[in-house]
Amino acid sequence: MPRRSPRQSAAGLVLSLASCGLALAGLTSCGGAMAGASDGPGFAAEPVIDPPIELKSAAPTPRLPSPEPAEVSEVAEASPPEPTRHPFHEPLPSVAQLAKGPANEVAQLSSAACRKRLAEIESSVERFRGAAPNVGWPLRIVAPLGEVRFTVPPASTPFGVLDCRLALILHELTEVLVEHDVVRVRIDNFYRPKARLPRRRSYSQHAHGLAADVMEFELRDGQRLNVEDDWHGERGTPPCGPEARLLEENERSVRLRNLVCAIAARGLFHHILTPNYDAAHRDHLHMDIKRDAKWFGVR
Ligand SMILES: [Zn+2]
Repeated sequence: MPRRSPRQSAAGLVLSLASCGLALAGLTSCGGAMAGASDGPGFAAEPVIDPPIELKSAAPTPRLPSPEPAEVSEVAEASPPEPTRHPFHEPLPSVAQLAKGPANEVAQLSSAACRKRLAEIESSVERFRGAAPNVGWPLRIVAPLGEVRFTVPPASTPFGVLDCRLALILHELTEVLVEHDVVRVRIDNFYRPKARLPRRRSYSQHAHGLAADVMEFELRDGQRLNVEDDWHGERGTPPCGPEARLLEENERSVRLRNLVCAIAARGLFHHILTPNYDAAHRDHLHMDIKRDAKWFGVR
């Protein structure tokens, strides 16, 4: 299958924490669907529906009994329908709850401690023997993790290299994937040496093999949830939580959004960027973990 080369432009898009401020635990000023912010103000604004007008006769002239109930009924039927609620509308857990999840625990592991846990997935990964500067313990995925296949860039490129800690997280991720009938995940890249954050000097988590750019999920029935084609989000709006909206609601867009928001609710990644974030993420989901991170966010 022809594979797209990683988009260098995405290298620096992530983790613009300080500039936005939204991703810091407890800060909710950036408008994203930050954990803990999703139950903030605004969602009380359900569509206002005018009550049916009470029909009164001006004069006590006897009338036939039928028209009035019919007119009242028509007024009620003209009211806009309640928008359908989906699992992705559920408020995300608080930062304190997410902090108890796998991302915090695994991101803190030393390379030695991570290697000891590789027994969980030893038949699915192998040590990468090439040069992978700034990656703690470089691996490649060579077989399905649990029941889920990960299609990754070929060994002739560095882009399929990932750190031991991200491999452990992806293994934990498969529990959510299986719940959502995912059998395959297509990865554009994990490792991009020297990838930096946008307009900043600090390195992206891709530079450490601790981030994944996900293009597509394949389901058990053969259906594919493609990020570029099926996201249908609105830029700048929260992807998950009560205020999340789909511009086009269909089976695939609902399933994709439910899946991504379920992943965000598990505390598997510190930071998830979706097409709602910016144009550079229009075709993929960025998911990363970071040692000593104090935030969780999906934007
Ligand atoms: Zn990325």
